[in-house]
Amino acid sequence: VAQNSNKGYAVYDSSFDAHSPKQLTLMSELHHAIEKQELQLYFQPKIRVADSTLYGVEALVRWNHPKHGLLFPDQFIPLMERTRLIQGLTCWVIQESFAQCAKWHKEGLDITLSINLSAKDLNNPELPDLISGIKGATGLNPEWIILEITESSIMTDPEAAMEIINRIHGMGFQFSIDDYGTGYSSLSYLKRLPLKELKIDRSFVSDILRDESDAVIVNATINLAHNLGLEVTAEGVEDAEILALLKAEGCDLAQGYHIGKPMPLVEFNHWAKSV
Ligand code: C2E
Ligand code: CA
Ligand code: CA
Ligand code: CA
Repeated sequence: VAQNSNKGYAVYDSSFDAHSPKQLTLMSELHHAIEKQELQLYFQPKIRVADSTLYGVEALVRWNHPKHGLLFPDQFIPLMERTRLIQGLTCWVIQESFAQCAKWHKEGLDITLSINLSAKDLNNPELPDLISGIKGATGLNPEWIILEITESSIMTDPEAAMEIINRIHGMGFQFSIDDYGTGYSSLSYLKRLPLKELKIDRSFVSDILRDESDAVIVNATINLAHNLGLEVTAEGVEDAEILALLKAEGCDLAQGYHIGKPMPLVEFNHWAKSV
């Protein structure tokens, strides 16, 4: 693992060693992280490109580790994804974020909430009932919620994933393809899935001004999405020039450090009032 535990830049690759002493310790600590209330959701704003108004937020998990400080998801999600721990995390994220989203709407903040699902979630036949239960308990309108899935998380078992996705979509929840362009996916799946949105991966977006082929990919993805009747979000918008270019290209929604970093709840609420 190429990692810097202070900054949280851990890279999950084929050399990821889940058996190193550090990873094994983290893994055992993860079992208790939720009950010890060490996990925390951060919220990153997403705006409409046309008029820069707030459209929604993406919930991103952080782990306030008692010894290592604030850990980013790349340092513990890959570990969790190897076991059933990820299902516990997903359950916690859904509970916390649905409740928060319902609260925002009660307070008059009319925004969508995006959450990330992993491959294991899409093979969990209990997920639809879990989501349905939490929806009922929080009195939430499912149209406010966007569930982000990736091409590779669908492709591990497409038929099973498709069935689970369709059941959840049947309750009124929306779906989005995250990190679009980085995985392998077939256009026939894109067509068959009940999608609302494609999110263009930030690796294409952040270099769009310098790299001609990234610009071509972003432009083609926007056109593809629109031709399929989908909205497009560009992630990784790091400066005003990128945002201006995306506007000229007709991109619908944008997310990135230029707009707002992921923030703890109190900070996000403050931010939302100021825009
Ligand atoms: P993602 O879903 O692609 O989330 C976007 C990541 O890009 C976030 O990293 C965000 O902080 C970062 N980001 C946002 N804007 C910019 C920008 O302008 N420039 C740059 N360089 N980065 C930007 P984060 O929070 O570290 O999350 C990393 C990944 O961990 C997420 O990627 C997602 O795949 C996963 N993840 C996060 N929270 C959860 C969760 O609750 N459940 C699951 N299953 N996965 C999660
Ligand atoms: Ca995401
Ligand atoms: Ca993404
Ligand atoms: Ca990602």
